[in-house]
Amino acid sequence: MKRIDMMDNNALAKLLFPEVTLLPEDMEKKFPARKLPEGACVTRIGPSPTGFVHLGNLYNAIIGERLAHQSQGVFYLRIEDTDNKREVEGAVDTLINAMAYFGVNFDEGATAQGDNGEYGPYRQRQRKDIYHVFAKYLVEQGKAYPCFMTAEELDAIREEQMANKEDPGVYGKYAKCRDMSLDEIKAAIDAGKPWVLRYKADMNDERIVVEDAVRGKIEMPRNFMDFVLLKSDGIPTYHFAHVVDDHLMRSTHVIRGEEWISSLPMHVELFTVLGWQQPIYCHTATLMKIEPDEEDPSKLKKRKLSKRKDPELALAYYQQEGISKDVVWEFLLTVLNSNYEEWRQANPDAPYTDFPYSIEKMSISGALVDMDKLRDIAKDTIGRMDAQTVYENWLGWCEEYNKDFAELLTKYKDRTLAALNVGKSGKKPRKDIENWKQACDFMSFYYDETFKHEDNMDEQADKEVQKQFFAKYLESYDHADDSSAWFDKVRKITEELGFAVKPKDFKKEPEKFKGSIVHITNMLRIALTGRANAPDIHEVSHVLGEDMVRARLSKWA
Ligand code: GLU
Repeated sequence: MKRIDMMDNNALAKLLFPEVTLLPEDMEKKFPARKLPEGACVTRIGPSPTGFVHLGNLYNAIIGERLAHQSQGVFYLRIEDTDNKREVEGAVDTLINAMAYFGVNFDEGATAQGDNGEYGPYRQRQRKDIYHVFAKYLVEQGKAYPCFMTAEELDAIREEQMANKEDPGVYGKYAKCRDMSLDEIKAAIDAGKPWVLRYKADMNDERIVVEDAVRGKIEMPRNFMDFVLLKSDGIPTYHFAHVVDDHLMRSTHVIRGEEWISSLPMHVELFTVLGWQQPIYCHTATLMKIEPDEEDPSKLKKRKLSKRKDPELALAYYQQEGISKDVVWEFLLTVLNSNYEEWRQANPDAPYTDFPYSIEKMSISGALVDMDKLRDIAKDTIGRMDAQTVYENWLGWCEEYNKDFAELLTKYKDRTLAALNVGKSGKKPRKDIENWKQACDFMSFYYDETFKHEDNMDEQADKEVQKQFFAKYLESYDHADDSSAWFDKVRKITEELGFAVKPKDFKKEPEKFKGSIVHITNMLRIALTGRANAPDIHEVSHVLGEDMVRARLSKWA
């Protein structure tokens, strides 16, 4: 067999890529270095459109967005659609919509209306010509070759390698097509044999060191694999596309999940052989969850979030539940930066964009997704919003997910705003809304259309007493009473009906009373809101208005 020489490399490159006329330098000219202020970061997310938008996509997006926008840089969206087996109809739109729902602001990249920016196309399948320029160049340099090995041949070497306890993969003596002559290659192509383009690696036992911005030094063996650059349909693998795209799109930081660390040697190899500067890698921690161990529930176990078991891994879950985008950002920033919570306590009203985000404060030991924590953050975050903001966000969600409720919110806008203001003043503002779905339920009593009785009045007093109470209450009711005048009347009726004004008196001597003031106010709450556990009666009455109050109470009198 004759080894391929330099001239053959050029001939081979022409044979494999007859349509490619442009050179790497043409690409460099077309996508020049960006003109940005010193220190500006260029970041991206590169999700694959599989139909499932992952919480991790948003997690990495938040880091990229913060780094770019904190430094007057650029943050863009690239669609990594090289894996057509995983592609699902409409998945790109799902992805773009999800990012929009969560308020992720891209400066350039794929949008619902097409691509936006000078460094596109931003969808990898549309960049085939660009990859082929560099693929051809690598062939010319003797750094890539076509490989015709069949699936059976690949299986056979894998078995042999397993038996010999060797590294699996195509390399060294297992790389059967490395040394094919130009004539042999021509013949195989003419015979219509499918081929992939492989990187031609040096066998070596060197090591590489990458300074990861999150993890510090990562030391690994240098690549010796003849890994695939282009698949048989001419579409690149993730490895090749990542290197070409992040170079040409001038990314300064590559933020991606830690599952990519094992591929780093391939990426370092490509950046080196192409003579390009490596971006700064930030490998983020896998999203984890803590739960009781199945075998020993007294112990807690940390495990990776799973698509199958954990609905909270899908961004769609947060959308469907109506978990506000601000809550999800707040939550992820807490998970992402160890000093975020402290900052939030010191700056309760500042927008999160004021927080100085830093990669150094990121956790590498697994990011914990704790849904109880999310709920607490949600109550705090929504508790801090003014009524108008809550109204707009809630209505926005309802318009998509609960159209009937959206109609109510629009029809009774003033009442709703007043309802949202209940309990807002004072030292301890109320924190009872955790998501928009739950808000529809929690606030349902403010509208006759959705009002229903959930708690049982008969648990508070017998029917006769109920009648007496509501008759008396309505008789003395004056909608203009302030809170203390109102409460004086409630107390008076409580006494008149033989109930204890002080709950502790009733506890001490239950036989002396019919019940306590707690039963009385519960009756009022149930009549007005359907529930014994509800916001302040006087305030609720004023949101509902005199007519509604009288109508709801007279049913019991
Ligand atoms: N397409 C890759 C993924 O979905 C992106 C990795 C990267 O950001 O480079 O995991």
